[in-house]
Amino acid sequence: MTYDFDIIIIGGGATGLGTALEAITRGYKVLLLEGHDFGKGTSSKSTKLVHGGLRYLANLDIALVKEGLEERYYFLNNAPHLAKKQTYLIPLRNWYEKSKYFLGTKLYDTLSGKLKIGRSKMLNKSSTLLEAPNLNHELINGSAIYYDGQFDDTRLLITLLRTFEERGGLAFNYHLVSSFQEQNGHIYGVSGKNTLTNEDFTYTAKVVINATGTFCDSTNQLADNSHKYENVAVAQGTHLVFDKDVFDSKHAILVPETIDGRVLFILPWHDKIVVGTTDVKVEKPTLEPTAKADEIQFILNTLNQYGTNKVSNKDIRSVFCGQRPLVKPKGSTSTAKISRKHEIFTTDNKMVTIVGGKWTIYRRMGQDTIDYIEKEFGFKKTNSITRELKLFAYSTDIIKYPLSSYGSDINSIDLIQKELHNYGKLHDRLPYLQAEVIYHVRYEKARTVEDILLRRTRAMFLDAKAALESAQVVADLMAAELKHDGEWKIKQLHNIALIAEKFTVGKL
Ligand SMILES: Cc1cc2nc3c(=O)[nH]c(=O)nc-3n(C[C@H](O)[C@H](O)[C@H](O)COP(=O)(O)OP(=O)(O)OC[C@H]3O[C@@H](n4cnc5c(N)ncnc54)[C@H](O)[C@@H]3O)c2cc1C
Repeated sequence: MTYDFDIIIIGGGATGLGTALEAITRGYKVLLLEGHDFGKGTSSKSTKLVHGGLRYLANLDIALVKEGLEERYYFLNNAPHLAKKQTYLIPLRNWYEKSKYFLGTKLYDTLSGKLKIGRSKMLNKSSTLLEAPNLNHELINGSAIYYDGQFDDTRLLITLLRTFEERGGLAFNYHLVSSFQEQNGHIYGVSGKNTLTNEDFTYTAKVVINATGTFCDSTNQLADNSHKYENVAVAQGTHLVFDKDVFDSKHAILVPETIDGRVLFILPWHDKIVVGTTDVKVEKPTLEPTAKADEIQFILNTLNQYGTNKVSNKDIRSVFCGQRPLVKPKGSTSTAKISRKHEIFTTDNKMVTIVGGKWTIYRRMGQDTIDYIEKEFGFKKTNSITRELKLFAYSTDIIKYPLSSYGSDINSIDLIQKELHNYGKLHDRLPYLQAEVIYHVRYEKARTVEDILLRRTRAMFLDAKAALESAQVVADLMAAELKHDGEWKIKQLHNIALIAEKFTVGKL
C-alpha cells in the first residue's frame, strides 16, 4: 500500500508541533492537522514559565525536575527572540522557610549541572524590599532568588510551525479529524472537514499520532471503540492580568504557599502583570473554559495578602483560563499532586498517543515519540537533531516586544508598512501595529479575527476591552487581504465579542 505521508499528527498544540518538528528533522514526510487554530487549546493559556519546576522537588520528582532543567536550557538557546531568562523571588516568612528554600534552590542549581542559567541567592528583609518594594513587609523576613525562563507561548508555537514548514512539513489549521481508516487492525488514515470551507478531507500515513491534549481520550475512543480510554485527568488553571504598576518588582514573585497549599506566580509579562494559577479538577474538557468566581477571588485575595497595592475586579485587564492534560495516576484525587510526566502508548489498532508533560519539554516529548515509533513500528533508527536546532527567525538582537518576536524576520513588517502606507497601531493601549495583522495572514495562517487577537498578537490576554475595541480594524484589514465580504466581518465581530466575555470579569 502507498501512503500520502509517513506520519500524520492530530493536534496543533505544543505537543503536536514539537512532535511534527522532530519528525520532519529526522527525514519523515509529515502532515499535522489542527481542528481549530494552532494553540486554541491549552498551549495558548500557560503561565509562560520555561522551568524545571521548583515545586516538584517537594514531591521528590527529581528526574522530572532534571528533565525540565535540561530542556529549559535548549528552549532558551534555540529561540532567544521568544524566550528569556527570568529571576524569581520567593518571599519567606521565617527561619524554617528560609532553610527549606535555601536547600531547595541550591538543589535546583545543582540539578541544572552544566546547563545552569544563573546561581540562586538568599536576601535579608531590607534587601528583599529594595528588590520588590510592593511586597507586604509584615509578611516577610527575607527571600530566595533563583533563575528560570519565561516565554510567549503562542509566538513560540507559531515559530515551531514556521520551522516545521521551512523544512517541508505540511500543517493545516481548521482541519477537524472526525473519523479513521483501519485495515488489519491498523489505523492508517484520517478523515474530517475543513471547518472554514466545509470541504472534506482524507489522508493516509504509516503511523497516526494523537496529540490532542485534554481531548486525547475522546480521540482514542473515536478511533477504537473496543474499550474505554481513561488516560487523562483534566485540571483547570486561571490567571488574572493587571497593569504593571499594580506590583512593582525587579523580579517575578513566587508565593511559596497559598492557603490551598499551592504556589502562585506574580509575573511581569509584555508590560503587564500576570498572576496565577489555580488547580481545579474538571470532569469534561472544553477548548475555551471559563474562570470560576472563586478562582478569581482566590487570586485577588492572595495578591492582596502579598502586595501593598490593593486590587479588586475593576483592576483586572484580562482573565484567562487553561486546562491541563495530566496523565491519570491510579487512585490519586488532587490534580495539583499529579506528576507532570508525559506518557506515550498505542491503542489496540495502533494509533500512537503522546500526552501529559508541559510546554517546557515540548522538544523532549517530540523526541521520545519519534524514538518510540521507530522502535514499535520497525522504522530505521534515526538521530534527533532538535537540541541544537535554532528556530525560525532566530535572533539574539534584543528589541522591544512585540517586534522582538519576529526575530530576524522583522524586515517583513517594515515592508508591509511601506507597501500599505500604514504605520498605525491597533489600539492606544496595545503595543501592536496594524501591519502585523497582514503579516499574520500572509505568513502565519491566521484566518479569523480571533486568531489575530488571541494567538498571533496577545491582545486579548493583555487587555480584553482594548482587544475587542480593535476588532473592527482587524476585521477590515483581514477582509481586504483575504477578499472577504461584509457578512464575513459581521460574523467575525460577533464571534470575538463572545470570546471577549470569557476574558472579562464583570461587564465589557
Ligand atoms: C493553567 C496552565 C498553566 C500552565 N503553565 C505552564 C507553564 O508555565 N510552563 C509549562 O511548561 N507548561 C505549562 N502548562 C502546561 C502546558 O501548557 C501544556 O502541557 C501544553 O500546552 C499541552 O499542549 P498539548 O499540545 O498537549 O495540548 P493542546 O495545546 O490543548 O493541543 C491539543 C490540540 O488538539 C486539537 N484537537 C483536539 N481534537 C482534535 C481533532 N479531532 N482534530 C484535530 N485537532 C484536534 C485542539 O484543538 C488543540 O489545539 C500549563 C498548563 C495550564 C493548563
